[in-house]
Amino acid sequence: KSRWSEVTMAPADPILGVAVAYNADPSPKKVNLGIGAYRDSEGKPLVLQCVREAEKRIANDEALNKEYLPVQGFDRFLKITPQIIFGKDSPAVVEGRVAVCQSLSGTGALRIAAEFIAMYNPGTMVYISNPSWGNHHTIFKKAGLKYLNKTMGLDFDGMVADLSAAPRGSTFVLHTVAHNPTGVDPSQDQWKKLADVCQEAIFDTAYQGYASGDLERDAWAVRYFANTRGLELMVTQSYSKNFGLYGERIGALNVAVKSKDTAAKISSQLKGIVRPMYSNPQLHGARLVTWVMEDPALKALWEKELKEMSDRITEMRSSLVAALVEINCPPPNANFRNWNHITSQIGMFAFTGLSEKHCSLLTGKHHIYCTKNGRFSMAGVNPSNVKYIAAAMKDAIN
Ligand code: PLP
Repeated sequence: KSRWSEVTMAPADPILGVAVAYNADPSPKKVNLGIGAYRDSEGKPLVLQCVREAEKRIANDEALNKEYLPVQGFDRFLKITPQIIFGKDSPAVVEGRVAVCQSLSGTGALRIAAEFIAMYNPGTMVYISNPSWGNHHTIFKKAGLKYLNKTMGLDFDGMVADLSAAPRGSTFVLHTVAHNPTGVDPSQDQWKKLADVCQEAIFDTAYQGYASGDLERDAWAVRYFANTRGLELMVTQSYSKNFGLYGERIGALNVAVKSKDTAAKISSQLKGIVRPMYSNPQLHGARLVTWVMEDPALKALWEKELKEMSDRITEMRSSLVAALVEINCPPPNANFRNWNHITSQIGMFAFTGLSEKHCSLLTGKHHIYCTKNGRFSMAGVNPSNVKYIAAAMKDAIN
């Protein structure tokens, strides 16, 4: 008998499972709206030109070697990454009050944050929006926070009530920009009110610059909390989407606190978490983003490419709504009067309002793959398939 004979099959990840089903479908008509990665207007993956250039420079530099990085990461990356999210002139950055740790992208940063909270505030309540990115729940062992009303708009009063009623010391996972899966963010005025009631926030930042095409604008909430209000907070950064570096796994955890001394102590503890988990982070991704972010010309190219990606997604939102209007597609259910929610949402995803039944029809009958909650990755939409998608949506609803 095998030592492992009691092992049962784990359930498939609901998001990753969509890609598996898509790949297995032989239909030439198939469309993948489940992917969390950018696709160009021909449906192809994109490697940014700024990344290609950085890659060449790194490959040609014979002085570089492949030695281990320090446990907390590449020093030049650790210096520049908080500047990108908090801003160069952020008092926390300038005064050295941010503990920074390089991570295996956004997921790894959240995982280190979760370990750190568990060490110092065991039993803390972690509040996660409802709905949220599925992995938040498994990373943090959720609590659950009201987020949406029925029209997919932000249930702001419900959110403030939940935040205010939370036990002291609770941690709140907030999406810095381009909330996944809804694409619905608080307004700047709403963020100001949230700063009044939010004690310990983790800003999960997976889409900086990718949402509006502007790095500064997409960092507004973090900068307001940290710089304007001087609040202590954690910020996880992912360079998967905004650099197209999904497989390189590059990101960071930033813990902004009130004193330099505390930041240094936290840094040492973060190293203590990383060492037995994976010992040292990866080198190549850290070099790539550092090479781009440190060089003014490459940084400008990055920002141009970010804008192009974000503009294409915004354009596809308008095209999809136009295609639905053109064929008189009724709204997904009685809570909606039209499809304008698709254009008012921001970021990679559209939360369409389609039901699980609609989504099953889209997949079973039309070979269009999306998650069962009606979330479309707008990156999968392009000029060649937008009308096909709209027609299939109408068929599924009718
Ligand atoms: N957080 C949110 C809200 C996301 O949508 C994602 C990716 O889809 C991540 C974090 C982490 O992604 P990665 O680990 O690739 O950086």
